[in-house]
Amino acid sequence: MLVTSRLTYRYGEGGPTFRFPDLRVGVSEPALLLGPSGSGKSTWLHLLAGILTPESGSMELAGTDYAQLGGAALDRFRGQQIGLVLQRPYFLEALTVRENLAIARRTAGLPADATIIHSTLEQLGIDRYADRRPTQLSVGEQQRVMIARALVNQPKLILADEPTSALDKVNAQRVSDLLRSRAAELGAVLVVVTHDERLRADFTQVVELRPVTDQATARVDP
Ligand code: ADP
Ligand code: MG
Repeated sequence: MLVTSRLTYRYGEGGPTFRFPDLRVGVSEPALLLGPSGSGKSTWLHLLAGILTPESGSMELAGTDYAQLGGAALDRFRGQQIGLVLQRPYFLEALTVRENLAIARRTAGLPADATIIHSTLEQLGIDRYADRRPTQLSVGEQQRVMIARALVNQPKLILADEPTSALDKVNAQRVSDLLRSRAAELGAVLVVVTHDERLRADFTQVVELRPVTDQATARVDP
């Protein structure tokens, strides 16, 4: 279960305050966080990932309060418990797909278990690309490698930022299906942030983020 309460964030002193709706996301109820461009979706995801620290409010994953962790402990927590699928695929380009997954495990302090790496690639239907470099794959295939890398540490929380925006209808549906089925099989909480309305019907919970100007208005209006 991922639970957040009264999360706020502000870039710098003069900037607007983002106020994020409270979340309670269990394993069998994947959440879609929908909002227009600039509404703070990526900011929200970076808070949930423990990459940004909120100005106020709290977050808890499987009973662990993010605020109790700091520095190295937070890095270890993120590496082992959180799988991130970012907006644009990025990889270590000199390395193969298999090596990229092995590095993801090692940087989290886990052994580069060849069986887990193989089965993760197989479950995403990309095991035949294991020895290719990511740049030799299509955008849709690279997206699946990103998902494989997010899953290879068997995280408790999977966070995806606009995972389907660059994909056509068929590939977008495939990515949505894969994220939800893999999360269910791993027993992981799944949170997807996007402006892609095509995903709405796939998710148990849909939380809408208003544009920041509305949020700023709500701030002075109790
Ligand atoms: P979304 O993902 O919904 O498009 P973001 O969370 O990326 O929104 O950004 C929301 C707003 O926050 C942006 O429009 C920008 O004004 C501001 N912002 C994002 N990143 C930074 C940053 N590093 N420094 C200052 N302002 C930022
Ligand atoms: Mg974004």
